[in-house]
Amino acid sequence: MAKRKIINIDEEKCDGCGLCIPNCPEGALQIIDGKAMLVSDIFCDGLGACLGHCPQGAINIEEREAQEYDERKVMENMIKHGRNVIKAHLEHLESHNQKEYLNQAIAFLKEKGMDIPVKEGKETHAHASGGCPGSEIIDFRKKKSSGGGGAKSGI
Ligand code: SF4
Repeated sequence: MAKRKIINIDEEKCDGCGLCIPNCPEGALQIIDGKAMLVSDIFCDGLGACLGHCPQGAINIEEREAQEYDERKVMENMIKHGRNVIKAHLEHLESHNQKEYLNQAIAFLKEKGMDIPVKEGKETHAHASGGCPGSEIIDFRKKKSSGGGGAKSGI
């Protein structure tokens, strides 16, 4: 385990405007129950692309002990935020085709006797339609940066 930079969101200051979401191409942020949440450490590179886009100054970079990635640690933190955050996280893993982590997360929830808010055994499809908004943003940026033409009005 090592210390690394990672974003921190002040839930008191956050008003859920969502301006930070498209500025996190890693898809680490989602609005859940009216607040921006870091849904998974693994997708936060700590570079703070989202920082300057928050009109409330709710996002800052902190340095904390963070596993490179440890699904159990993420889940331990995740369960404090309730079912909707857990569901978003699991769907996020599904949308990024992170089957191994998804299975670890489900095993963790089973160990804790907690509800599993996604269908088990569901096939995961990266960038499936209706999946993680972050995935769509990554696609969008790739299209832009590859010198492609116009953006799709896909929303
Ligand atoms: S931009 Fe700031 S206030 Fe708006 S959702 Fe993100 S963290 Fe919250």
